[in-house]
Amino acid sequence: MRVLICGAGGFIGSHLVRALKKDGHWVRGADLHLPEYDESPADEFRVVDLRDYNNCLAVTKEVDYVYNLAADMGGIGYITAHLADIAHNNTLINVNMLEAARVNRVERYLFSSSACVYAQSKQQTADVVPLKEEDAYPADPEPGYGWEKLYAEQLCKYYQHDYGMNIKVARFHNVYGQLGTYDGGREKSPAALCRKVALAEDGDSIEIWGDGKQTRSYMHVADCCDGLMRLMGSEYKEPINLGRDEWVTVNGLVDKIAGIAGKKIKKQHDTSKPQGVRGRNSDNTLLKKVLNWEPEINLERGLRYTYPWIEAQIRHQKFYSQFMNPDELVFDIGANIGNKSKVFLNLGCRVIAVEPQSYCIEYLTTRFSHEPGRIAVISKAVANNNDSVIMALGTHRGVSTACPGWLQAVKGTKRFVGVDWVGTQHVQTTTLDQLIEVYGVPVFIKIDVEGFESKVIQGLSQPVKGMSFEFHPEYLADTKKGIEHLTTLGEVEFNYSLEESMTMCPEWLSAENIISALDEFVGNNTIYGDVYARFV
Ligand code: NAD
Repeated sequence: MRVLICGAGGFIGSHLVRALKKDGHWVRGADLHLPEYDESPADEFRVVDLRDYNNCLAVTKEVDYVYNLAADMGGIGYITAHLADIAHNNTLINVNMLEAARVNRVERYLFSSSACVYAQSKQQTADVVPLKEEDAYPADPEPGYGWEKLYAEQLCKYYQHDYGMNIKVARFHNVYGQLGTYDGGREKSPAALCRKVALAEDGDSIEIWGDGKQTRSYMHVADCCDGLMRLMGSEYKEPINLGRDEWVTVNGLVDKIAGIAGKKIKKQHDTSKPQGVRGRNSDNTLLKKVLNWEPEINLERGLRYTYPWIEAQIRHQKFYSQFMNPDELVFDIGANIGNKSKVFLNLGCRVIAVEPQSYCIEYLTTRFSHEPGRIAVISKAVANNNDSVIMALGTHRGVSTACPGWLQAVKGTKRFVGVDWVGTQHVQTTTLDQLIEVYGVPVFIKIDVEGFESKVIQGLSQPVKGMSFEFHPEYLADTKKGIEHLTTLGEVEFNYSLEESMTMCPEWLSAENIISALDEFVGNNTIYGDVYARFV
């Protein structure tokens, strides 16, 4: 089946792309941007604004099914603050997408509605009666976002009536999970609370919006995707709940997250903040009848998948924040698809991302197209001279090296099982000194260039505040050369961290001691790590 997912750069859409690919479908993604936290496995990804009818018409060409998950949306803080923008943007997306799907004779169309369509008057107590589909009328939905969803549901009904389109309407109840927005203002309550708990120390208090006694039900994103695919395959055409019917108070949610984090967390309630309806839960009678299924992942289990992912993101940010402050300049050498650049941008830094591989350059340029001015993507390799170099390209997208010695050393080791080195690419080189001449002195340089690290370091002739460079136990002679070069630039001390643990030794080490510490890993070809250097 050829499937279009609108909103494929967003939280649920990016998971749905993965689920449909796993199911063997050809998938086209469309969104204003690529997914923020992971590479999209979509066969084709169009970065487009779906408020524009011509874009809707183009993306709906030659597809059988359309899942429309594109929307201007966020948590309660966001949707109560931007009534006009949300209603305006989502009306345009939904009106244009439906018409384009009709013109292009799409076989099936799914609209992602929301529990925000339900009458507010029926959600005024914490021990709320679970919401049945008919509770959306008489209409009294959430202002802005809810009214627009309810209107779009009606529009779907009219297109079914007038044109016989096969349309499904799923009313999602709070969806949460890994790879979802967890900061920046658009995050929803489970992600926001996971972030707050991850940032807190044991015994700290965190701010809770409202008195914490409001109730909600939460569905894990894997269940959401499962439900969407089942609904699309069904013959049901009326709006239907897609959520769990296990409710919890917000205070209870905090306790569950704190339990998973292994922290004692105190709650500080701020009743001046928006908190939405008092209680909301899904009645799944119809869902069970229509799909013979309901979401299966309970809150405890879902949070056990979600919290560690958010905690890891926070750990990365906390770790790098010791090296940089907002507005400072960072070089990301060997930026690949930009996961570290993203962390530096999240910390408010300006980033120069240098990457030679054409696939990665295209990805980086698209990924950060909405952050102009904060990141520059440079299509070069960094070396010890201004010349050119031949890079070996691996079969896994984004794996490459300009270092034949390293390639020989790591070939066949556990970390590179399945990678064949199949092509080459001739690329221009530059040096750290030249980058500094053009962009200024960075506070931090991250180097991850598969065995070429010492060559990159040799192109630097002045100390910088901090840097990191990857090491592999099979190729330590090269790492040592890099360390030695840095000792010629000024007084420097070292540390290291294994894999993505983001933990270093409590004490910084001399050049001699870091070399001895790294020597301990000789013969272990299952790990890798980063050496950190700071000039004192
Ligand atoms: P999300 O914000 O992560 O994803 C929505 C995506 O739509 C974003 O990537 C955004 O860039 C894209 N988008 C917005 N405007 C666009 C435009 N003009 N052109 C192209 N793309 C555009 O949100 P999500 O949580 O993945 O939600 C997906 C759908 O589910 C939305 O329709 C949302 O209203 C609905 N929903 C979600 C929840 C939830 O708890 N996450 C609850 C109820 C309903």
